[in-house]
Amino acid sequence: MSYKLPDEKDLEAMIGIVGKNYATNNKAITASYLAKSVMGLESQIADIVVRPKYVEEVRKILLYCSEEKIAVSPISGGLSGGFACPTIKPAGVQMDLGRMNRILEIDEDNRYAVVEPGVTNGELWAYMHKHHPDWAPPIADGAPPAATVMGDAIDRGFALYTSSTGPQGDNFMCAEVVFPNGDIVRTGSWALPFAKPFYKYGLGPDMWSFLMGSQGTMGVITKAAVKIYPHPDSKTVIAWGMDNPYDMQDVTLDVGKLEFGVSHNTVMVQGGNWPLVMTRWPKDKIPQDYEFYEKAGISQWWMNWECWAQSQKELDNVVETINGVCEKYKKSNRCRNPDAMKPWELHPKQIASRMKKPNKIAVPYSFWEAGFLFITWYTPWNECAHFAEMYNGVLEKYGFPPVMWIASIERCRQAICMPIICFDSTKDEDFERVQEVNRETTEYSLKQGWLNYRPDPYIHAPLTYSQAAMYWKYLRAWKKIVDPNMIMHPGRLGLP
Ligand SMILES: Cc1cc2nc3c(=O)[nH]c(=O)nc-3n(C[C@H](O)[C@H](O)[C@H](O)COP(=O)(O)OP(=O)(O)OC[C@H]3O[C@@H](n4cnc5c(N)ncnc54)[C@H](O)[C@@H]3O)c2cc1C
Repeated sequence: MSYKLPDEKDLEAMIGIVGKNYATNNKAITASYLAKSVMGLESQIADIVVRPKYVEEVRKILLYCSEEKIAVSPISGGLSGGFACPTIKPAGVQMDLGRMNRILEIDEDNRYAVVEPGVTNGELWAYMHKHHPDWAPPIADGAPPAATVMGDAIDRGFALYTSSTGPQGDNFMCAEVVFPNGDIVRTGSWALPFAKPFYKYGLGPDMWSFLMGSQGTMGVITKAAVKIYPHPDSKTVIAWGMDNPYDMQDVTLDVGKLEFGVSHNTVMVQGGNWPLVMTRWPKDKIPQDYEFYEKAGISQWWMNWECWAQSQKELDNVVETINGVCEKYKKSNRCRNPDAMKPWELHPKQIASRMKKPNKIAVPYSFWEAGFLFITWYTPWNECAHFAEMYNGVLEKYGFPPVMWIASIERCRQAICMPIICFDSTKDEDFERVQEVNRETTEYSLKQGWLNYRPDPYIHAPLTYSQAAMYWKYLRAWKKIVDPNMIMHPGRLGLP
């Protein structure tokens, strides 16, 4: 496929659609989008940035770019780490949806919020806190406040109550999508003009799921209804430490499988290993041996359960049950090292900081050596320890600290496993080592049947889709219908 490098005439056309203040090819502005791309190793600088406000403007831009064969990469908050930036050259148009930032409706009875793509986690959280304090929107737990609810859904991310309610995609009910063929489609029950967004599977086969994980390759989502959940006052975090990922995995699964009255109350269940603590500080300023962290009371591995309940009585029961399951596991012959398994008494300030939303928990990984890359895989929960052992081995082989974060999705039905590669982004050879790690681990992981979420266009997508040719065939066929000139985010997901 080849794409047109946009020229002055194309810029004039964009200005004609959105007005002169909202379309530019100014180098400082186009390059500023790349600055957000903290984790995108392959991002390009767009040739034009355009910032529509209305659905009809989005439609006109897409129709024009399709006609002219100009690539378009949509961006909501741009904080998916660079995944919203163009991947090819000519890079084409970056469509920044930040001006479409209205919170259109909150319905407490049917329990949804309707938002435009530019609504950020911080804005929605603050709005709900002020006007609907008993309800919590599905914001990404660790993403920056300036990331958006919409961007996270399209990425199929994880929200602050993912362990109870499932991945972020499951929190989305209905959407309005503009395709480059000029069609505006409403999914789920929204397909009927007078229906509320109360049923995501709509009139028949569900189209919205096709857009989950599409990463801007299919069309532009201009509106969505997301579920909201009660936000009770009775909350706490409990934690247990252990010295290996298998005990972490197995005891957490024991809790997850209880389901009713216990794991439904565990909104965020996340664990990891001690290098997660170390790499939040500049590399040259802190000790790098475990002994130091052990003295500070940090176990080699741990698991946290953030629990929400409707009353203190209910919360006490959840906490006691989880502690009871951990005690029982510790005494069982399944426990690999009972001596290392112990409750971790968290300081009230640690609990308070964990509960603060949106938190900025993931940002400090840039302190270690400036560059960091979150690479995220989904595995069945009972395979996450195997994943961690394998991945950490490869990280160490290539000279990176073995940093591993793991969280439960939907009460341990899946694990989201996130190695954090901390590297020196000023060194070319570090980029090569990062890609070596990525390639070796991707080849191994695909053989185990594990899935990459947010695949990168050079390693994950080609290696994955080359093993799923029939799936890719239909993905491409669908894209051809909605995006006949293949202008949407070309390169991403290996499409076209
Ligand atoms: C420090 C840090 C911490 C993070 N922690 C978390 C976390 O806890 N949980 C989590 O799930 N994620 C996390 N992430 C990943 C990411 O921030 C989230 O997924 C985030 O919500 C993305 O939102 P965004 O608005 O920035 O998306 P963007 O970067 O704007 O877009 C994401 C993708 O969707 C496409 N896209 C965006 N908007 C549209 C649209 N309207 N129509 C069609 N396509 C579109 C883009 O092209 C891109 O491929 C983290 C990232 C960072 C940098």
